[in-house]
Amino acid sequence: MGEKIPPVKGTRDVLPTDTYLKKDDPWVRTGHLQLIEQAARDIFPLYGYREARTPILERTALFARGIGDATDIVSKEMYTFEDRDGTQVTMRPEGTASLVRAYVEHAVQQQGGETKWWYAGPMFRHERQQRGRYRQFTQIGVEALGSTGPRIDAEQIEMLDRWLRFLAVPFEMHVNTLGDARCRPAYRTALQEYLRANADRLCEDCKKRTETNPIRVLDCKNPRCQEVAAGAPRMESYLCDECKAHFDGLRESLTRLGVAHLVDPKLVRGLDYYTRTTYEAIATSGLGSQSTVAGGGRYDGLVRELGGGDVAGIGFAAGVERLALLVAQAGREKEERPVVFLAPLGAAEEARADVLAKHLREAGIAAEVSFRGSNAANQLKRANALGARFALVVGELELSSGRAKLKELRTGEQHEVDLARLPDEVKRLAQNTPPSAA
Ligand code: ATP
Ligand code: MG
Repeated sequence: MGEKIPPVKGTRDVLPTDTYLKKDDPWVRTGHLQLIEQAARDIFPLYGYREARTPILERTALFARGIGDATDIVSKEMYTFEDRDGTQVTMRPEGTASLVRAYVEHAVQQQGGETKWWYAGPMFRHERQQRGRYRQFTQIGVEALGSTGPRIDAEQIEMLDRWLRFLAVPFEMHVNTLGDARCRPAYRTALQEYLRANADRLCEDCKKRTETNPIRVLDCKNPRCQEVAAGAPRMESYLCDECKAHFDGLRESLTRLGVAHLVDPKLVRGLDYYTRTTYEAIATSGLGSQSTVAGGGRYDGLVRELGGGDVAGIGFAAGVERLALLVAQAGREKEERPVVFLAPLGAAEEARADVLAKHLREAGIAAEVSFRGSNAANQLKRANALGARFALVVGELELSSGRAKLKELRTGEQHEVDLARLPDEVKRLAQNTPPSAA
């Protein structure tokens, strides 16, 4: 027998059921992921966002330039290798740079107006594995290109708010502004001076960040760095008039749209390309220290940086695994129940049941047919375990008469049905007595 091959560190399997898994930690199942994705598929198009799919492999230069060399992602987290033809490629650590690359590549700007795209897929970062932090994880994100805001910023934040509320996860929406190329440099310098003066109280990483990416020190998780950050100069007092008007406009729009939000001066986001609006949805319970479920912001310089025109943009990305942990705790899951369980009692009955199942599926009704010849009681137990709504026992009598009893498992109610018209009979009964859970 061959040796078991373990999965790669930081990757995980998501299975349909948790029967084999420990019960104390809420285990994420495929149903949770489907609920999250389906809600995005339903809600985002209401705001004009359409799905885009870009490759997992990109040239390394895209992220080095797009995200910035000084960021944690580019400096130490990327899965980068040389392709067989010598090209440096990276498994994407995030989606924005790729979507902007596609936007530039296909000259989408020429179509005019706003472009709103959403995406979903795996991202890869070589990070220390923790609860809610993996090396392969999934993001669902959106990008709106072509508008300088702030109304479109507020529209996007309201959409995120709606999606998270639909999923019933507990969260708070934090917003901030980072200024722009005009006012941020002065702030950066003031912050840097303050951090240098307090260098002895900073962690090793933040000592380096002080020189390379000082704003990132503000969201270091180390408690001593947080103390230093609490006394740091604030962007607010350095904002130029335009950036201040943008932020005021954002807050007014959010209030008009009824989006509860908190101004959080320490919300800076890790990537270099952000300007003005930044925002995060932070879980208020259930995730421990990895509590940010979605982060977003405006990136007015990115399209130009990646070879396109002067096009403003704003987007967010949500961590699907973190959302799924919350959805699992809330006990929500997409219902996926086999509607009819067929329990044949002998060989001839099995042959008939296989064909009946085919007819049901042709009519769009989910059907499971038992492959284990056992008595009716055991088969009904299995139907219950599967969460089937109806069970149909097919024995000798049913075979000869062409009629059978369709049992509603939740109530025990029995309905006599004509096997030749089974799909119609099931549809009629399913309509008459809707199951309570669905
Ligand atoms: P963090 O501060 O938690 O590292 P980040 O700033 O690196 O977050 P983003 O790049 O903004 O995160 O990604 C957006 C969202 O994607 C995060 O809010 C989080 O929910 C999720 N995410 C990021 N990295 C991981 C990871 N390694 N594993 C699981 N989810 C992640
Ligand atoms: Mg990170």
